[in-house]
Amino acid sequence: MADKKAKKLIYTRHEMFELNKKLLLKRGVTLESIAEISFNQQAKYTDNISRDICLESVEKILSLRDVFHHVQLAAEIDRLAEEGMFQGPIQDIIYEDLGLFGIDETMGLDVSGLYGTIGQTNFGDIDVNNHGIVKRLNDAGKEDGICHTFLDDIVGAIAAAASTRVAQVMSEETAHEETGLKRFSIFDL
Ligand code: MG
Repeated sequence: MADKKAKKLIYTRHEMFELNKKLLLKRGVTLESIAEISFNQQAKYTDNISRDICLESVEKILSLRDVFHHVQLAAEIDRLAEEGMFQGPIQDIIYEDLGLFGIDETMGLDVSGLYGTIGQTNFGDIDVNNHGIVKRLNDAGKEDGICHTFLDDIVGAIAAAASTRVAQVMSEETAHEETGLKRFSIFDL
């Protein structure tokens, strides 16, 4: 049996961010394209939001351990399905992205709720209305040899969590202004 001690299991926030960024890029997803969805979603509800705060939110989320595990697993499931590596009925169910298969959405719901329940509503909106990179992943996933069954939901969920974080940061700033305090620093969202 392989020596378990020789294996690396724990990564720093920076390493997790870099590994997630690299893997997403390999699968055709830029962080800017995720931030774009967050911006378009949150701009409907909040004035004066910047693309920078959306991108910062995406970057922050991608450095979290739970999200690291989700992204790494989701991308691997899709890759294995592309290579026909699963045995039994689940291979075709995942590869064909069966509508009634919902484990990809379950993972998305988990990630999207990071900054509050509203993130899950945001995720539902992205899942149903299918904009930007999520739509592109969905469309590309219908082509031969490509499977994005899990990736589209993880990407949509990160966008949903990021737009929720933007709302939380803006609310915190407003609350601090009302109390006469300068920009917050202790409560790092
Ligand atoms: Mg899916």
